[in-house]
Formats: sequence, structure tokens, C-alpha cells
Amino acid sequence: MSTVATDAIVLHSFDYLESSRILRLVTREAGVRSVLARGARKSKKRFGAALDLYAEGTAELQMKTGRDLDTLASFDVTHARPTLAGDLSRFTGASMIAELTLRFARDAVDPGLFDAVGSTLDQLMATSGDRARDTAIAGAWRVLSELGIAPTIDTCAECHAALDPAAAAIFSHPAGGALCSRCGHLARGGRTLPAAARDALRDWLAVVDHPVSDPNDIRAHQRLLREFLREHLADEKPMPAFETWERDTLGARAPSASLNGAR
Ligand SMILES: [Zn+2]
Repeated sequence: MSTVATDAIVLHSFDYLESSRILRLVTREAGVRSVLARGARKSKKRFGAALDLYAEGTAELQMKTGRDLDTLASFDVTHARPTLAGDLSRFTGASMIAELTLRFARDAVDPGLFDAVGSTLDQLMATSGDRARDTAIAGAWRVLSELGIAPTIDTCAECHAALDPAAAAIFSHPAGGALCSRCGHLARGGRTLPAAARDALRDWLAVVDHPVSDPNDIRAHQRLLREFLREHLADEKPMPAFETWERDTLGARAPSASLNGAR
């Protein structure tokens, strides 16, 4: 058995047997881990706020070779994020980020992923009203980028030719990003990505703030993200948090979307 002390954020938590809880953590030193918090429901003193969603702190994990479930020896919370639960768009955005991280992440050491998740949650906490939507979208692309599956924006995903940054481009999920006009003609089922949407994606992937507020643009970006995730997930399992976030952030369905351009 080895013991590892690492920065960690709680992304998921559920009851286990009569007195314990199982947490899923994204950690700086050990990737995504499932941990058993033994006796956590019997004694609030033992783990305190560590069982709260999105709490961050130093976790001491006891790992056994060949076992998927670690034991949580202690968790000192340095940064609780209670206000995430106080606003629907912030909360559903945070849930979507957590789901995406848990679905894609591995148990490899990945400090960049840890920082991307933590800073997205902090940005969501600091948002007001409508900015929670594009903040969550930007955070999702940043997380995907840290996982090594970011789309190409300024070079053709097929032939690597440079693309005019000011022009619309065909975006192909199977190809993994924007295409030049020659490859775009050959690709099936691509979407036209307007220059403004490419600008937003470029900035988000570079961790540059880029507000998008128009509900139709938000919806189009959510759909692009959903299709991209579907293309990269190995299974067809539902993404309930994503679906709730997509449905709830904008309320009733908007009439049309500007990156709608199925050709
Ligand atoms: Zn090309």
C-alpha cells in the first residue's frame, strides 16, 4: 500500500453502505480517482466539508496495487465552493464540467487537467447571470484541450494547410476540426463555422476571455460541443449533466441558430 498526498477536487459523491461515501476526485498528482470515505456519514467531524461537491483541498489517499478504489485517509479543505449551488446556470455548468472530466479522464498524473477544472469552477463562481453559459462552454473546451483532444481551428484538420482566420470554415467532427475548402468539399456532414464562432473557439482554447451572449450563438456552441463529445466518446452512454445544462441554461428552445449551417 502506498500513501499519496495530493491536491484534489470533489467531482462526484454518493452514499456507500450504511456509514460511508464514495467520492470521485480529480487530483493533481494521480489523475481521476475513486475513493472510499469510510465512516463519513457517521461522523461529520471526520471529513467535514470535504464531502461537498467541488470542494478543493489536500487529500491523503491510500492506494493498493490492483484496486480501483482508494481509501481517503484525510481531506483538508482549503477552498469550498458553496456558491456554485446557489445559481442554476452555475450549478448545471459545474455539473457538466464534472461529468465531462469523469467521462474522459484517466488515472495518469495530469496537473494541467486539474488546473483547468479548478479554474473553470472558480470562473463559474465569479460569473453573474448569463455569463455562466459561455464560461462553462469555454471551460469545457479548455478541459478537452488538456485531455489532448482539442479541435484544430487555424489549420486544416486533414491536410494541415493554413486557414484564413477571418473566414468561415467547414468544421468536421470526425476529422477533428476546421477544414480547408478543398478538404471541406470532400468531407461529409460538416458544419459551417462562421468566423465569429471560430474566433470564440480560438480564444477559449487559448484561455482568453471571450464573451458570447446571444442565445442562438450559445445554443449553436452547445450543440457543436455536444457533437464533438459524442464523436470522441467511445460509447453511446448518455451524458445526463450535459443534457440538463443544455436544456436549462436557455429555457425554451430558441428558433434558429447561427452556426446551424448543415450544408
Ligand atoms: Zn485541407
